Amino acid sequence: MRTEALAPPERGVKPGVEPPRSAPTPEIPFLFVHRRVTDDQICVLTFDRPDSSANVFDRATIEELNRHLEFISGSPKLKGVVLTSAKPSIFIAGADLHALAGASAGDLASLIELGQTVFDRLAALSVPTVAAIHGACVGGGYEVCLACDARFASPDRATKIGLPETQLGILPAWGGSTRLPRLIGLPRALDVILGGKTLAAKQALNYGMVDALVPRERLVEFACRQISTPGSEVRRGRHALKLWLTNNRLVAAALSVRIESQLLKKTRGHYPAMFKALAVVSRGISRQVAGSLALEREAILELAQTEECHNLIRIFFLQEHAKKQSYRPANAAAAAKPIARAAVIGAGVMGAGIAHWLSSRGLPVILRDVNAEQVAKGMAGIAQLYREGVKRHLLTKIEARAGLDHIFPSAVEVPLHHADLVIEAAVEKMELKKKIFQRLGELAGPNTVLATNTSALSVSEIAAGTKLPERVVGIHFFNPVHRMQLVEVVVGRQTSSDVAERALRFVQQIGKLPVVVKDSPGFLVNRILMPYLIEAGHLFEAGASTGDIDEAMLEFGLPMGPLRLIDEVGVDVAHHVAAELEARFSDRMPSPRVLAQMLKAGLLGRKSERGFYLYHTKTPEPNSGLSLFQEKDWAKGFGREVLQKRLVLLMVNEAARCLEEEIVAEPPDVDFAMIMGTGFAPFRGGPLRYADGLGGARVVGEMKRLADAGAEYFEPCALLQTLAAEGKKFYPEKGDRR
Ligand code: NAD
Repeated sequence: MRTEALAPPERGVKPGVEPPRSAPTPEIPFLFVHRRVTDDQICVLTFDRPDSSANVFDRATIEELNRHLEFISGSPKLKGVVLTSAKPSIFIAGADLHALAGASAGDLASLIELGQTVFDRLAALSVPTVAAIHGACVGGGYEVCLACDARFASPDRATKIGLPETQLGILPAWGGSTRLPRLIGLPRALDVILGGKTLAAKQALNYGMVDALVPRERLVEFACRQISTPGSEVRRGRHALKLWLTNNRLVAAALSVRIESQLLKKTRGHYPAMFKALAVVSRGISRQVAGSLALEREAILELAQTEECHNLIRIFFLQEHAKKQSYRPANAAAAAKPIARAAVIGAGVMGAGIAHWLSSRGLPVILRDVNAEQVAKGMAGIAQLYREGVKRHLLTKIEARAGLDHIFPSAVEVPLHHADLVIEAAVEKMELKKKIFQRLGELAGPNTVLATNTSALSVSEIAAGTKLPERVVGIHFFNPVHRMQLVEVVVGRQTSSDVAERALRFVQQIGKLPVVVKDSPGFLVNRILMPYLIEAGHLFEAGASTGDIDEAMLEFGLPMGPLRLIDEVGVDVAHHVAAELEARFSDRMPSPRVLAQMLKAGLLGRKSERGFYLYHTKTPEPNSGLSLFQEKDWAKGFGREVLQKRLVLLMVNEAARCLEEEIVAEPPDVDFAMIMGTGFAPFRGGPLRYADGLGGARVVGEMKRLADAGAEYFEPCALLQTLAAEGKKFYPEKGDRR
């Protein structure tokens, strides 16, 4: 193989596409995309952004790609092109969202047009083009692959392929909305684009989004061989024959009507990008490519202006921030050593979930419970989680087996001095936890981090009874562990900053998203959620129906209504947390009587098949028997807006109090945690961003009216009142990325 250096003579491209012409600038070095030409005259373009673990498409990278395409179209000897990446786990992670978010309307329009034109130029090359994909290949990263004639991917776990744009409030507009339906057919393309799906390699193969799976080491060689082999698969138009069945005006119209009504039901109209994408993809299919690309351009420019898009992109930035943040940068060195061995105490719902997650990330884990039966139950749950993972193509059978082999179950006490971290997830009782931690102090090594997964008990109190309270920290996972990305790192009064840093790094190490919180009842997420759940209980007692309460919040954009959520969490657990918070904040969080009454009657929610809903049928139905507990009727017939106002404003108030009390450092921490921990309407940007949208004066005015009408717990906190009085907001008006 040799590296091509000289500028080649010109060579024509297919008719119909006008490539952008850059001035001849042979002296400009290539920074982002490197080129070599093999002995077989195949041009391999390798994306390798300097000083970064990821490749992204920004203007400079697209322009570089264009210069390579200019070279290729002017090199008559070349037999084909292969696109690949030098990064260990990323092919191309899509467009540079920082550039996109910061662009003016004019800049955005020109960036979109540039991407479309350059990818079009790639699609129009007269030699075969192949994408050799290993690692994340999403958004613009996959759109460039769609402009190739064939796509081969490694079967590795790191390989994820898809078009997640609608989740960011936009749509694929570098040809994705146009080319994907032409590749895999309209119904599947809509499924991927509207769902904002990112698929594992095997699933992508099943969908037809890639043509073959090839081991990573052989990808480029395989791609080159396919190009060199006459009659190989790397030919255009293979799908054309069968696609006319799905890609026509009639099917598009019928699908549009059906999918639009499904979308309305699912999103309640809150996510405009999905509706726009549906219109663009289904209308674009009966246009020429150029006409469909024009629809893409028009739609993305419109969507990029929406508040929904701004909020969704902000969440993306918050996730990126959570992956990289430090507790105290000065402690970074002390915490640099990753956790290599862990132990989990308690093999119940949470302990098993945590052990499963850690083992799936390659960590050896001791899983300890009080007896063999409990341990076996935990292990059975873990095996089931692995089976489901294999079924969903998240990992292979071999990886699942390896994961299970990483767990060392134990029904007896074992030495823990080799463990870097112990996570306690035993039952929620202070006395028990104190005893466990005293014993852990003796069993664990001097540098072992001791963590509790408690949901509502004081980490500082648990730590107080141990010899070295500075190494005790809260690492609060949410249920179910394998689905919930957020983890609260709870810093107790005595927790050392090295230990806090280490806990934070550990959460990042296992691929979860941390938020650092101060030790305080309910920490952050449960603290803000509880007044909302409690108010739902009060509204129910006061005559509002289960359906009305839950429907109001679904309409607001939450994934589940509050009464249904209580059923899912467990009426006993909700009652316990409510009682803890009532003890601390009796003036504004009186626990609703209905929870205690339900507990007494054995109505524990989903786990007992009876709670606010009955779970005997496929779709849970409101439990009409509960009307016995509706002792008042002032909330009967409350409209949706009134219910929403009462429920949401209490969350806003508590969120502001958490800032006042410095439970977290900044407003974005609150909003991020509520979105990731509870699904708080992502398109609204979180409770504080939502309050900013309403305006401080309106929030305070509404709350004061409710407080004056007798519900004193609506009294707005001092921070809200100050912001309203000074006409300020939680977020600065402009330029905040977080
Ligand atoms: P669980 O009842 O399902 O499991 C608790 C397990 O701890 C049981 O298997 C029990 O046998 C075991 N256990 C009791 N004493 C023990 C001891 N001395 N040594 C070892 N194991 C012992 O409870 P869970 O829902 O898994 O909750 C565990 C912890 O996680 C609690 O502190 C809870 O507040 C917290 N949490 C729960 C959730 C949730 O939704 N379930 C969410 C976040 C945090």
